[in-house]
Amino acid sequence: MKSDIGMLKAIVGESDVSDELADLYVYSSDASVHQALPSVVVRPKTIEEVQQVMRYANGNRVPVIARGAGSGMSGHAVPIDGGIVLDMKRMNRILEIKPEDILCKVEVGVVNDELNRVLKPYGFFFPPTPSSGNICTIGGMIGTNASGNRAVKYGATRDSVLGLKVVLANGDLVKLGSNTRTDASGYQLARLMVGSEGTLGIVVEATLLLSPLPKYRAMGIANFDKLEDAGRAISDIISTGITPSMLELMDSVAITAVNRALNLGLPDVAAIVIFECDGMVKESVGHDIANIRKTCERHNGSGITVSDDPKEMARIYEGRKKLFPSLSRYGEGLVSTPLADDMAVPMSKIADCVQEIHKVAKRNNVIMSAYGHCGSGLIHTKIMMDPTKESQWEDAKRAVTEIYEYVYKIGGTTSGEHGIALSKAPSWKVEKKDSLEMMRAIKRALDPHNILNPHKLMDAPDDWTKATALRYNVRRG
Ligand SMILES: Cc1cc2nc3c(=O)[nH]c(=O)nc-3n(C[C@H](O)[C@H](O)[C@H](O)COP(=O)(O)OP(=O)(O)OC[C@H]3O[C@@H](n4cnc5c(N)ncnc54)[C@H](O)[C@@H]3O)c2cc1C
Repeated sequence: MKSDIGMLKAIVGESDVSDELADLYVYSSDASVHQALPSVVVRPKTIEEVQQVMRYANGNRVPVIARGAGSGMSGHAVPIDGGIVLDMKRMNRILEIKPEDILCKVEVGVVNDELNRVLKPYGFFFPPTPSSGNICTIGGMIGTNASGNRAVKYGATRDSVLGLKVVLANGDLVKLGSNTRTDASGYQLARLMVGSEGTLGIVVEATLLLSPLPKYRAMGIANFDKLEDAGRAISDIISTGITPSMLELMDSVAITAVNRALNLGLPDVAAIVIFECDGMVKESVGHDIANIRKTCERHNGSGITVSDDPKEMARIYEGRKKLFPSLSRYGEGLVSTPLADDMAVPMSKIADCVQEIHKVAKRNNVIMSAYGHCGSGLIHTKIMMDPTKESQWEDAKRAVTEIYEYVYKIGGTTSGEHGIALSKAPSWKVEKKDSLEMMRAIKRALDPHNILNPHKLMDAPDDWTKATALRYNVRRG
């Protein structure tokens, strides 16, 4: 694609195009198990450059995969058919902050934590709080509709996007949504773009709704000997009208993982629940925390500690905060893979679902942890397995299928925050079978030549283990 590379260099400049193998390799994977080399990496700096790249790609039928930080968990930014990986991180200006309208305008390469650092002196923050906030971009958060541990109170990215500027597959620039907190007119196309995983357009600018930074925060932790009790406590906390700013669960596997990795000495119990309340009035935060404490006590929670001291709160949250890397160190030769990793279930079913996850894991020779933002009904899992054994991938595949069959049976959904891309697509297509054709029609209307992140979501292959190469050295047989 020599002449093509010349064309791309003419658009964005010599130094912002690369087809060096080392660069292609870096852009061949994300935080998922998948890997596929792009043909070329392009780093635009302006909207006009994005438009020109899209006109070129559309005319020549070249796939374009928008990429932020590549922290997606399911193969979102993996270029399954090669083509152009469009690295959006150079478009990273904060364009406007308007405290009086509680909004800001940004280019999409801005990193979440950097935006919050700049917003802090104004007394505001951008509410979605993914654990990957120190690396993930606003564009990637829009692509996946990311959320995080505070979504229980503040919602997901979609709830904080007012308007977008989007470059379409043919290079046209469109403005979607508005600058206002309400916008009742017509199809909600800005909202449609959120969570579309780079398949409908390249988002270049976003108008974001902010929240005032809370003045007070308090946190607590409770231990449970039975998962059912933890599940009932979570469901009761939410249904009694208290809105915690965080309500997290860690199961026994998660507790073991952080104890092994960090020697934290967390108690050997079936589950730990961590809760947090925030707000502008100290007494009201204290009142809510006390009520949550009573609810945990009513459901046999023990060892309950609450505090509003920042150091003590950091200590309470340490195990949960460091859980993700700790899972990678669970056992010799095991890796932690993000498969079936963020289902959402009705609040009353959280404990049942965690128990079923453990049974499925045992049946299929893998280890699975369950934890996460249970105040939103969201359960994270990781499958710990030996990725060098072919048979373990078959085990993992069976486990994923069985878990999702159960999740659908109890009225749950495939993904509460990480999105679908490749790894979750086969099950998700079963869940969404009634809307797949509608989604394909929308895709055809906006991207008739199927160049935007092709073969993802409803068009992904039916076997995720064969959708791309796997990032591991798998010994066959
Ligand atoms: C350690 C870790 C913790 C995580 N914690 C959370 C969490 O708490 N909550 C959560 O929701 N997620 C979490 N994630 C998943 C991931 O970080 C988020 O989905 C994040 O929003 C992805 O951002 P990114 O910039 O890395 O996007 P990428 O991974 O680069 O891209 C994600 C998707 O968005 C599309 N995209 C990117 N930019 C654009 C654009 N400009 N226009 C159109 N489409 C675009 C891509 O094509 C792709 O489909 C975590 C991941 C890791 C590795």
